[in-house]
Amino acid sequence: MMNSGLPGPKPSQADAGFWSACRQHKLCARRCLACGSWHQPPIPMCPKCQSSNLEWQTLSGIALLFSWTRVHIAMHPAVADAIPYGIAVVEFPACDGVRIIARLDHASDSAPAIGAECELYWINAADGQPLPAFRMLLPGSGAPFVQPASR
Ligand SMILES: [Zn+2]
Repeated sequence: MMNSGLPGPKPSQADAGFWSACRQHKLCARRCLACGSWHQPPIPMCPKCQSSNLEWQTLSGIALLFSWTRVHIAMHPAVADAIPYGIAVVEFPACDGVRIIARLDHASDSAPAIGAECELYWINAADGQPLPAFRMLLPGSGAPFVQPASR
């Protein structure tokens, strides 16, 4: 498994369960056991029915690309060799549209197609914490990437 060199997360009380599940290579979101709705980011009470009977449940390993960007400036030394790299917002339609922001691997010469299927994989932070990441299931299915004009 790739060690990204990235600093690991500092879990809060609200998202400790998320990071704990990641250590077992499970990507989870909170789900209300009273009404079945999904919530991300995690909150202590269901916004639909006000129940606090919530549980971490595993999401599918396949998501749809909701949005993405390509990062060209290294904001941390750990990513200096990786630029340019993709960041995605992926969506899980079967889970009330829960969205996760994560690293996106895709061909650098094409723009990933919004709505395309992405597959979950894992990279490790420097401290060994697994971090979710996604890659396009059908590489090359995106439109040709047009480099923004430099100013
Ligand atoms: Zn609820």
